[in-house]
Amino acid sequence: MNKEISTPFRTKEILAKYGFTFKKSLGQNFLIDSNVLTKIVDQAELTPESGAIEIGPGIGALTEKLAKRSKKVVAFEIDQRLIPILEDMLSPYPHVTIRHSDVLAADVHQVISEEFDEGQDLMVVANLPYYVTTPILMKLLEEKLPVRGIVVMIQKEVAERIAAKPGSKEYGSLSLAVQYHAIARTALTVPKTVFVPKPNVDSAVLHLELREKPPVDLMSESYFFEVIRASFGQRRKTLLNNLQNNLLGKENKPMIEEVLSETGIDGKRRGETLSMEEFAALSNAFYKRKD
Ligand code: SAM
Repeated sequence: MNKEISTPFRTKEILAKYGFTFKKSLGQNFLIDSNVLTKIVDQAELTPESGAIEIGPGIGALTEKLAKRSKKVVAFEIDQRLIPILEDMLSPYPHVTIRHSDVLAADVHQVISEEFDEGQDLMVVANLPYYVTTPILMKLLEEKLPVRGIVVMIQKEVAERIAAKPGSKEYGSLSLAVQYHAIARTALTVPKTVFVPKPNVDSAVLHLELREKPPVDLMSESYFFEVIRASFGQRRKTLLNNLQNNLLGKENKPMIEEVLSETGIDGKRRGETLSMEEFAALSNAFYKRKD
């Protein structure tokens, strides 16, 4: 029986055998620590009936671990050069399907309906390419895929921003955009040394448990996010100033003040202190006054 793909020795051997060279532009930093990979898969709480969707399988280190713990794995890989390597490496696992595609351009709903059973427990598990972490996460969340959750290795600083609570310096529109769709926590932090090549930044595993229904009632989802973006426009400015300057205009100051007093939110506060519920109350009150 061959050793696991993820051991440093096997990884080196595979890269040499196929003459593979890393493309920095595709965020290719492969994991070479079996324990870290096991911890990532543990976070997904898969059962033998679960399905796993992976983004960017590389040479298959994480894919192999997922294959051992689930009924089916579907992995999206953008780099054509990796497809034959993956087909070879994962040939002992016929329940793994590799899709050669850019996940950002893929119709993931369609892939899910083709590859998995209806109602099957599904998790997205990935060591994401860092250059496109946020677009990939937002695509997965906004498309409201039928998945239980998402477990991803990402840049530590981005994981902290995503999981941040109101009042912290990391809290911002990204925290709210993700937390609207999911309950977020940083599961573990990971040193640079577990990758080849070593990235320039530290990493963390982010755990997202998708919400069955939104945590706040909104009159307009898109307007809610406009209010949030405006409120964080200039972080040193007060909420009142940001709303005036970035969304509603100075001429509407009296209306803004009226809404702030109606919702019990002090206009001198900064955006970063407002909870999701307070942003929802604000955006609904402004939205009602829109013509
Ligand atoms: N899963 C492997 C591991 O943990 O060792 C590799 C992870 S590496 C950080 C990211 C992988 O994502 C690379 O294989 C890269 O080619 C792939 N990738 C980059 N952009 C992608 C995209 N838009 N769609 C699908 N795969 C992508």
